[in-house]
Amino acid sequence: MTVTTNVMKLKMYINGEWRNSSNADINEVINPATKEVIATAPRATKEETEETIQVAKDAFESGVWSGLSAQERAQFLFKIADKIDEKQDELVELEVKDNGKTKAEAGFDVSDAATCFRYYAGLITKPDGETYHVPEPVQAMVVREPVGVAGLIVPWNFPLLMSVWKIAPALAAGNTIVFKPAEITPVTAMKLFEILEEVGIPKGVANMVMGKGSVVGQTIAESKDVDIVSFTGSTEVGRRIMQASSGNLKKISLELGGKSPNIIFADADFETAVDYALFGIFFGAGQVCSAGSRILVEESIHEKFVERFVERAKQIKVGPGMQEGVEVGAIVSQDQLESILEYIEIGKKEGATLALGGNRLTENGLENGYFIEPTIFTNVTPKMRIVQEEIFGPVAVIQKFKDEAEAVKLANDTDFGLAGAVFSQDGAKALRVIKKVRSGITWVNAYHPTYVEAPWGGYKQSGIGRSLGTYGLDDFQEIKQININLAVEPVGWFSN
Ligand code: NAD
Repeated sequence: MTVTTNVMKLKMYINGEWRNSSNADINEVINPATKEVIATAPRATKEETEETIQVAKDAFESGVWSGLSAQERAQFLFKIADKIDEKQDELVELEVKDNGKTKAEAGFDVSDAATCFRYYAGLITKPDGETYHVPEPVQAMVVREPVGVAGLIVPWNFPLLMSVWKIAPALAAGNTIVFKPAEITPVTAMKLFEILEEVGIPKGVANMVMGKGSVVGQTIAESKDVDIVSFTGSTEVGRRIMQASSGNLKKISLELGGKSPNIIFADADFETAVDYALFGIFFGAGQVCSAGSRILVEESIHEKFVERFVERAKQIKVGPGMQEGVEVGAIVSQDQLESILEYIEIGKKEGATLALGGNRLTENGLENGYFIEPTIFTNVTPKMRIVQEEIFGPVAVIQKFKDEAEAVKLANDTDFGLAGAVFSQDGAKALRVIKKVRSGITWVNAYHPTYVEAPWGGYKQSGIGRSLGTYGLDDFQEIKQININLAVEPVGWFSN
């Protein structure tokens, strides 16, 4: 591991102050394309996390944020969006260094982050609530209120964007927050909190604690003073969060893993299907929850598809994210690299055919980083681990199907239910099939496009609740029923 001279010293943001931890154990953050240490970050203790939760609780109860009008909160959010735009280049460069993704990928993340703040700034000022026709003389209505203290825990694959998907709606709704970035990618989160400070978010409203999931994350999930925990990460940790949250029955929102099917029929536009299939699995080096990691191809075009898919995948340029022409960046960490390589070995042992790749890339300047070549398995069977488990890397498995019924059966033969796609030029067939795919995010003749206006989340073990759109705001709001008696007189139930 090489240490560069300009290592950033990250701090936590608690009650409007930049703080270190009392814990001497420091987290070294590396650039996965070079293994250089780019930053050091504190690892907060349980006590420091509890103290931060208390800060957020006090700030919530003071009404310094929830007491503002929606218009006033929206103004802050619009300013945050403008600052993100102003700092676009800096944020992109940091995201690439921290996560290893490409400049183009980080560019989308940063502009989508600004869009997300603007969306929720606009949404919160729009009419909400309802009235009900209950028997006279009562007027019944529903109003929406902030939940309270929101604990927000995010993964490393979209460090800035996943943070914003939670922070924007949570703040728009009037909650105060305790936010925890992933340990391996905390850099742009700190930049985001610098922006929150610059625009003048009141002290104690937005807090960031850095550290281990098993300490900081667990404390947030367990705390009785946290009213909602909104988590994005693996299904395994999601399960732990659910258990830890049961103490005070807090609201939970879980955005978890996937093993999503991409179904390609013989009547699809062939080149479009191949192109999106590549994008579906190799975008972000496959470190994408919604990745189209299981490609299901109709028997009659299977051979032709594999041939073309392999030919195109061979040409993908893997390398450091800031380098011109690079299309797939680094794997985020040594652990992830090892885990992906292990899955490739498992696939071989299970008897699948390795049609392309399978190796770590260590030449032409890639020897210092974590890079894996695009990898494709064919001749797989449904029960193989590489077909069932989330590999979270640039590894595609291609399955064959005979007809519509078999395509649907294979697509749904998974514990996950995050995303899925169908490629066909027969509109009725495509709709018939996509309606049967048990996933929360689906596409027809496309893969991956994501819109802030539309809900994001999974069926089955891919999660609970939805991010984005109006649904993303719902998570951070309580629904209160108010009944007003318009004829003020005794109820007269008891005789005396
Ligand atoms: P992870 O579950 O290991 O970690 C996610 C976060 O949880 C990190 O901040 C981590 O520190 C924290 N954490 C770890 N243990 C914890 C505990 N016991 N209590 C509380 N918090 C804890 O996930 P990851 O490896 O960072 O991210 C990859 C996973 O995220 C993949 O499974 C991917 O599919 C999923 N993901 C899902 C979505 C979605 O929208 N569904 C989006 C992005 C990533």
